[in-house]
Amino acid sequence: MIPPVKVAEVKYLLTQPGLSQRRIAVLAKVSRASVSAIASGRRPDYSLRTNPDDEEEDIPQGPVERCPSCGGRVYMPCRLCRVRSIKAQERERTRMRSRMAASWDLPRQVG
Ligand SMILES: [Zn+2]
Repeated sequence: MIPPVKVAEVKYLLTQPGLSQRRIAVLAKVSRASVSAIASGRRPDYSLRTNPDDEEEDIPQGPVERCPSCGGRVYMPCRLCRVRSIKAQERERTRMRSRMAASWDLPRQVG
């Protein structure tokens, strides 16, 4: 992954007239593929995903409603209930795993 500061440097260099992507790659000490990716918007700088523009799809839509499951006044579908169901599944999986691990451990403890 390219550090965000490098991406910013490449982006800046891309705005400069007369610089080829090959030259920018040399100047910024990144691969030409990276320069090309940044130039085309397929930037590999995942750390910049914290950019508010990228989280637009995460903004809740629609009016606040009473959740039938938890009774909270939330944007539907209820995120709290979704998280709770995910957590419950994780707990269940962990229980199953530890149960299996316990049965596997049994012969070793006996021997
Ligand atoms: Zn809920």
